[in-house]
Amino acid sequence: MDSTMSRTEAAEPHRQTADDVLAALDSDPRSGLTQRQARQRLDRVGANALAAESPPPAWKKILAQFANVLVILLLVAALISAGLWLFERDSALPFEAMAIFAIVLLNAAMGYIQDARAEQAVAALQKMSAAHATVVRDGTRQSILATEIVPGDIILIEEGDTVPADARLIEAVSLQMAEAPLTGESLPVTKAVAPIPSDVPLGDRRNMIFSGTAATYGRGRAVVVATGMQTQIGRIAGMLEGAPEETTPLQRELDKVGRLLGAIVVVIAVVMIATILLVENVHGISAIFDVLILGVALAVAAIPEGLPAIVTAVLAIGVQRMAKRHAIIRHLAAVETLGSADVVASDKTGTLTRNEMTVRVIITASGRATFGGTGDDPQGGLSADGGAAVDGDQLAETLRALTAADRANNAALVERDGRWSVQGDPTEGALIVAARKAGLEREALDARFERVGEVPFSSERKLMSTVHSDGDEPGRLVVLTKGAPDVLLERCSHELAGNEVRPLSEARRGEIAALNDQLAGEALRTLGLAFRTLPEETAGTEAFDDGIERDLVFLGLVGMIDPPRDEARAAIERAKAAGIRPIMITGDHPVTASVIAAELGLSDGRAATGAELEAMSEEALDETVREVSVFARVSPEHKLRIVKALQRHHKTVAMTGDGVNDAPALKTADIGIAMGIAGTDVSKQSADIVLADDNFASIVAAVEEGRAIYANIRKFLRYLLSSNIGEVMTMFFGVLLAEAIGLTAAGGGGFVLPLLATQILWINLVTDGAPALALGVDPADAGVMRQPPRPRGERVITPAMWAGILLVGLVMAAGTLVVLDACLPGGWIEGSGTIVYAQTMAFTTLTLFQLFNVFNARSDHTSAFVGLFANRWLWAAVGLSAVLHAAVVYVPFLQAAFSTTNLGAADWLFCAVVASSVLWVREAGKFIGRALVQGSRPANADGIKPSLQ
Ligand code: ATP
Repeated sequence: MDSTMSRTEAAEPHRQTADDVLAALDSDPRSGLTQRQARQRLDRVGANALAAESPPPAWKKILAQFANVLVILLLVAALISAGLWLFERDSALPFEAMAIFAIVLLNAAMGYIQDARAEQAVAALQKMSAAHATVVRDGTRQSILATEIVPGDIILIEEGDTVPADARLIEAVSLQMAEAPLTGESLPVTKAVAPIPSDVPLGDRRNMIFSGTAATYGRGRAVVVATGMQTQIGRIAGMLEGAPEETTPLQRELDKVGRLLGAIVVVIAVVMIATILLVENVHGISAIFDVLILGVALAVAAIPEGLPAIVTAVLAIGVQRMAKRHAIIRHLAAVETLGSADVVASDKTGTLTRNEMTVRVIITASGRATFGGTGDDPQGGLSADGGAAVDGDQLAETLRALTAADRANNAALVERDGRWSVQGDPTEGALIVAARKAGLEREALDARFERVGEVPFSSERKLMSTVHSDGDEPGRLVVLTKGAPDVLLERCSHELAGNEVRPLSEARRGEIAALNDQLAGEALRTLGLAFRTLPEETAGTEAFDDGIERDLVFLGLVGMIDPPRDEARAAIERAKAAGIRPIMITGDHPVTASVIAAELGLSDGRAATGAELEAMSEEALDETVREVSVFARVSPEHKLRIVKALQRHHKTVAMTGDGVNDAPALKTADIGIAMGIAGTDVSKQSADIVLADDNFASIVAAVEEGRAIYANIRKFLRYLLSSNIGEVMTMFFGVLLAEAIGLTAAGGGGFVLPLLATQILWINLVTDGAPALALGVDPADAGVMRQPPRPRGERVITPAMWAGILLVGLVMAAGTLVVLDACLPGGWIEGSGTIVYAQTMAFTTLTLFQLFNVFNARSDHTSAFVGLFANRWLWAAVGLSAVLHAAVVYVPFLQAAFSTTNLGAADWLFCAVVASSVLWVREAGKFIGRALVQGSRPANADGIKPSLQ
């Protein structure tokens, strides 16, 4: 078999007949390969994937943590410090250098872990959106991972599918492919099965479909001839480069903030060092060096260079939380954008409704009949109005109509273990169930009608037809058509009454349209059925197109229920409470759409149709999208216009889509959402989010998570930045006011630093690590879905946040310096401690300040005492930081490394009381802020309070 396969690959399958290709690959066009064959071939040829660059090894990633000018400077400083120690031998070990090394290492380890976590989450994401393909193996149709496809597999391609491997067509029904990724040709190419005798370029190989291209219309069946790197795209792409790292707008903004802060901190550090060296009395190389190290340490501690990485980690954690709620994120940026979504435009069928169709009613020329039974079980029977049996003309008409419904159909009804289920489109499945309920058996229909052609359904056409030879009337072809009644009626010229075909009068057309509206008014999804016979000479024509859908004989209308999803109503309410406007955009009838929308509490029942939109100017459309929330009988291109109109109102639009032609709207929407179950590959590839359960409620859940994540990012920004600014201010004012606070060496001469370099680094390491991450996983504030969406374009750090951050920084600096002053002789407050004692006290106070500040950072407005114990991680992080700090104060070895000394209980109490001031000051500020907001901005008409984030 080996040799046959490679021969086929070499022998250019487009020049051979489909049968020859199948034979060479030892495959069967109906039943495909066996699982065994497939496994063996997979072992031999390998996975159907393009070779990817291997990820950088761990040591490179660890090394990358040190690739930062400041960290290198710090390491150099530590080396010099160790060198100085060798000369001076002023302590048992080079403690300072060791402490700096240890801290740099710990910092790198933390950075590495954070990066690894973010990477894992991103990898998990890719796995979640791994491509699947439909194959036939062992005679059954199944969905498998695209990577498991092997040469010889029979693949089935439908509109919207991406082709998983290069394959030779063995059947094509109006199949059109978009091959731009391969050939650059932007127009879809129509495919066929016949061999092409000469050697032609890829774009002209009409009987081949290629990996990476997508079906835009129709369907096909093909045998795989090449996989992985053997495919045309594999040959072109060569090595697939690792996906470029994606940066989100938030990360870019924070990068800028980080750089700005970095510049400010470096300037401050330089000014500080210069002040000390020029003004103060610094003696000896070692002392000068201490000052230099302090400058570098301060810069390292205060520059939030890790911000983008932490943001990635938090976004990635958010992505996992969203996945648990069935929203699979394809682009990290969507996590941010979701929080400011203010319109969610959703499809109806399957998203707001269950997509569990059951035909309830059939109306033919003789009247209306009702189906019994539930679900996909073909039991339940059919009864005329009043409960009587259906008979006479009505029965004849109903059976003809249901025959059309059953035949113009690509779904299947299967029974497994006594349970019936539909494979394929639920609308079509429901029609088969209805036909069975009326007593039409598949075997008999199969025996009589052989399908010879198909004009596929599309959301634009809203019609589908099949062409059959009729065993009862040989030599004649019959066209069976089903579709949206309004569209179908326009193509009908006659109607079936009993066994008679009569012309369709204008009056009768009006009646049928009214009946259709009546069904729609009962929240039923309606479908019309029709047929026509084709003149004999048409027989033998291979391709049929929509030209055959004319002069049809109308057979009847069916109405099916598709109940709203239970959770959709509540989700719509939640969305509205959150200031988000839900909009329904559907291909269904306007009346059905309005009734369902009203049932869901989505709108006042007004609907605009696609035809109306088409006639509208842009201005009129702008006005309409402001007022109308239900759009019915729309085509995908209308969706694009609706998105654009909403965006002209500066709305952030989330839009759902499932079809191949929804791709432009999904790309244009601020958040494109594709359906995981019913969606096409093309729509998924264009979307930012894929809904694993196709459920509207999952969109609202994702918005909630998005808002919570953004709020958390703001929380740790408040925390990190205020902590850093507090450290910088403490050092800066400590140096400026050294004389005033008694910060001089014993005996009056010489200069003393407010805190040592190692102490600053330690505060940064201990407090910024665990507490900042814990803030990143803070539970969502109960109020997140009772606020309006975050305005688009609002900075992540608002002026109010900056004000809070600066205030906190100032309080920290003032408190720390007061403690320093109080512990030292001289200065404003008289004290009697040694320098080491005073520095330990200041060090402790500044550390405790950070721990109190964690609780401030949870909101700019809400009191820290609201939900104080909601986040256990936060308390654990605070506890851990306190214990670590105590260790530095009491463990002898660490005392030597960090120049600390034992503190008594009263000392701790004093530090804690001073440090708690940051909490009280901030609480007072928040109280005043809340009072002002309440006074000036009342809740709006919907009861939505102004943003409190
Ligand atoms: P949504 O956009 O909310 O998912 P939808 O699924 O109802 O709505 P379409 O699938 O575009 O939208 O269907 C539009 C109309 O086309 C339906 O109301 C129905 O009358 C008709 N229709 C749907 N499916 C078929 C089909 N398989 N064959 C023929 N006609 C169909």
